[in-house]
Amino acid sequence: MSTYETIVVERPDPRVARVVMNRPAARNAQNLQMTYDLNAAFDAAVQDDAVKVIILAGNGPHFSAGHDLRPGAKNQAGIDFAPIGSWGGFREPNAHGRFAREQEIYLQITRRWRNLAKPMIAEVHGKCIAGGLMLAWACDLIVAGDNAEFCDPVVTMGVCGVEWFVHPWELGPRKAKELLFTADSWSADEAHRLGMVNHVVPAAELTAFTLALAQKIAAKPAFALKLTKEAVNRSVDVMGQPAAIDQAFALHQLCHAHNLQEFGMVVDPAGLHPSVRKQAEVKA
Ligand code: ZN
Repeated sequence: MSTYETIVVERPDPRVARVVMNRPAARNAQNLQMTYDLNAAFDAAVQDDAVKVIILAGNGPHFSAGHDLRPGAKNQAGIDFAPIGSWGGFREPNAHGRFAREQEIYLQITRRWRNLAKPMIAEVHGKCIAGGLMLAWACDLIVAGDNAEFCDPVVTMGVCGVEWFVHPWELGPRKAKELLFTADSWSADEAHRLGMVNHVVPAAELTAFTLALAQKIAAKPAFALKLTKEAVNRSVDVMGQPAAIDQAFALHQLCHAHNLQEFGMVVDPAGLHPSVRKQAEVKA
């Protein structure tokens, strides 16, 4: 089995690949290395015919603090990994390069994961913030520990929601607006009430519960599972979700372009953590 710099892949059952984000000190903030490590691990699990179900989990106190926005984080560099998309221009200045990079590492790669041809279950505990939501939402099922807490605070940073804009689909339009406008967190129970998560279980039982769910699914025929996922995803697609996501992504880029002109950085510094705000420029 391959080893990765930022993740660990476990095989708790011969039919289940458990992909564990492993930057606990950074609260599993997703840098470029982790993005492509996840992509490679998901690919390996999809290509392994013995794997029926993929679990995505996080090591440490939190599932994910989101994208790694700290200056010096690998997201700032050009794309030093084999791209999954066909856009190019990653090192171009200004909106040109930023659009290319965010297309690749946020929009298209999340779409790719959402369409992987095997059931994926997010096992979420602790905080699941901004880019962390994108990871959980890309999965087919979400199981949350009762300590899980969700938030997309990027309006505070002058941006209209994270790059994978499925908030209205996951939360309903009215709660999506409220939670974006206020940047408030919502609990596991609230997420369950809104239909965003499948199950809420005591945190201590989260891993065992998620594995048992994966095993129940893994007992079903592989081809039927693939086609069922495809049928549901296509149903959502014909409701217009891909076009809505692409539209919101364009508006998201407009926010970055505005902030760059207004503040000299792609987000409004008023919304940044003070330790990050001190740094000169953020090019997430
Ligand atoms: Zn962005």
